[in-house]
Amino acid sequence: MKDRLSRIRSGIETAVADSGRQPGDVKLVAVSKTVPFEKILTAIDLGVTVFGENYVQEARDKFNALYSHPLSWHFIGHLQSNKAKYVVKIFDLIHSVDSLKLSKEIDKQAGKIGKVQSVLIQVNIAEETSKSGVLLEDTARLVSEMSQLTHLEVKGLMTMPPYFNAPEKARPYFKALRQLRDQIRAMEIPGVAMDELSMGMTGDFEVAIQEGATLVRIGTAIFGERA
Ligand SMILES: *Cc1c(COP(=O)(O)O)cnc(C)c1O
Repeated sequence: MKDRLSRIRSGIETAVADSGRQPGDVKLVAVSKTVPFEKILTAIDLGVTVFGENYVQEARDKFNALYSHPLSWHFIGHLQSNKAKYVVKIFDLIHSVDSLKLSKEIDKQAGKIGKVQSVLIQVNIAEETSKSGVLLEDTARLVSEMSQLTHLEVKGLMTMPPYFNAPEKARPYFKALRQLRDQIRAMEIPGVAMDELSMGMTGDFEVAIQEGATLVRIGTAIFGERA
């Protein structure tokens, strides 16, 4: 894992430098879904502090077991409204908000524990029926509606482009997400920062960084193939 991580870290550094951005502009989210504790502990020893999880129950178990470590947990999976009450207790950032109904439930549950929950909106940029996320043309309206909620803060956008075996093919989708982010940012909606772009995984994170990613979500390249 040490070698894998240093390859990823230098890949991130190179992509950051190539695109004239600053080191520190891009954060690594280590995607640890289905990864056992021992491997997570190894990653912690190697300096990983941000973990991305997809499943609520699994994440709760890991959060409780690793409570003594100063970590940041990000929720990146599909979220049902009835799980919001668990998610607000654990996660610093939810990447996958895709409806006003879910936003309202997160707002309500965050309010109960006196928290302002940071979230990203998941955009279904290629309009794939198999994927969750809001459509590009509906995103700005959702951001405006969400900006009315007092216990929730929209920090940016997230996407998962279609799967390609050539990362260059994902580039237009990353570019489109960045343009959408810039358009929404130009609307200057009060309370909406729109600084974060969560895009890029094992197969395409360099291209995503070149197109403006601030958070890359990498699992396989760190932990190996998932069981
Ligand atoms: C699993 C997952 C990842 C990580 O994918 P890898 O190809 O293993 O790097 C990233 N984002 C989301 C939303 C995921 O579900």
